[in-house]
Amino acid sequence: MLTKEELFSFIEKEKQAIFQRGETFFHCAELGFKEVGTAKKITDLLDEWGVSFQKEVGVTGVIATIGRGDGYHIAFVADIDALPRKDGMGNIHSCGHSIQTTMALSVLKALKDSEIMEQTDCRASFFFTPGEEYIDFKYRDELIAAGKLEFRSGKQNMIALGCFDGVDCVLSAHANGDEGTKFDVGSTLAGFMAKKAVFIGRAAHSGAAPHLGRNTLHGASLAMNAISFLKDQFAPEKGLRLNPVLTECGGSVNVIPDRTVLETYVRANDNETLFEACKRVDSCLEHCAKALELECFITNTTGYLPLKQSEKLNKTVRENMLLFCGPEEIVENPVSGASGDVGDLSFLIPTIQFGFSGIKGRFHDDSFEVSDYENCYLTSAKIMLGTIYDLLKEKGARAYPKEYKQRKKDYLCMLRRKD
Ligand SMILES: [Zn+2]
Ligand SMILES: [Zn+2]
Repeated sequence: MLTKEELFSFIEKEKQAIFQRGETFFHCAELGFKEVGTAKKITDLLDEWGVSFQKEVGVTGVIATIGRGDGYHIAFVADIDALPRKDGMGNIHSCGHSIQTTMALSVLKALKDSEIMEQTDCRASFFFTPGEEYIDFKYRDELIAAGKLEFRSGKQNMIALGCFDGVDCVLSAHANGDEGTKFDVGSTLAGFMAKKAVFIGRAAHSGAAPHLGRNTLHGASLAMNAISFLKDQFAPEKGLRLNPVLTECGGSVNVIPDRTVLETYVRANDNETLFEACKRVDSCLEHCAKALELECFITNTTGYLPLKQSEKLNKTVRENMLLFCGPEEIVENPVSGASGDVGDLSFLIPTIQFGFSGIKGRFHDDSFEVSDYENCYLTSAKIMLGTIYDLLKEKGARAYPKEYKQRKKDYLCMLRRKD
């Protein structure tokens, strides 16, 4: 088997082509499930390199696999979608997903050219996943209505389609906004659930006979009080965030309101807190409605689950980072309030997402720019490649998802639930 150094040389050799691909993908910015040009560029390269793939998976996703064995199956997940520009002039890769796409292709090509997979019974699959940014709902809901998608996010659809069945671990990387450091390892991502409560009461004349009405605004404001008291019952490190707003207040001043809509996101750093908080918020809403003889209809829309990283895999990732930088340049276990659908994968399969710096400007803003090409495109790809190398070689570093089947069942059940 090749040494790790020899494997890294396959990235180094391609340096100029990799930088060029990085630029090409950065300037091909398309919104979720519209990444037709990006997918075409990916499949053109795969064709050129003689790598087999599936395309149009969950509308615009691409999956390419290297290796034929039935041993350990490693997944590298790379987002491919972009965001709308703030100035209205098209789209921009202001979350750096084009870097992930470029990185995945670099790692894939190095594995292919080095023929390293042929010396093992393992496989490496590259998932180019659409629609990670949770935006553009009108278009996505149309695709759902037309039966082309089941959920609003790329990875959620790929999970439902069974694309991750048989995968042993998920590797991913995302640009971070840290300056002065090179990488981060073990970051959290918050999970969230969108909740909508419709209070239904009875209208009446607010002057002549208010006692004949049942005021839904009273029910909603009672529930908002209960929800704000509830926050006190969760420890701060659980990251619970509840910010209810009244999106429909109803009525005019001479009428007792008979319909009020309260909406909130429930955010938390771990699944247990997220599920527990959802249950307790429902209980606040239902009981406050009941106390005032109102009806309350609650709808939940699952957003993304919190990211829970595999410590075992992160140990391997960190060791590979240390080949390129000192420990002081690695941020350990940062807490992030952002969310991503890689969190959903981490619920099912041992998953990691490391962060790499080298960005100028702000995320999700037109000022976003890649500034450190070496770190974003080369070193990050080598860290990923080194991690895969260790997983191929060292059985002890592997983490198998024993409960995948049951977890997937529970997960899809939760996503499909309509309360
Ligand atoms: Zn983003
Ligand atoms: Zn992102």
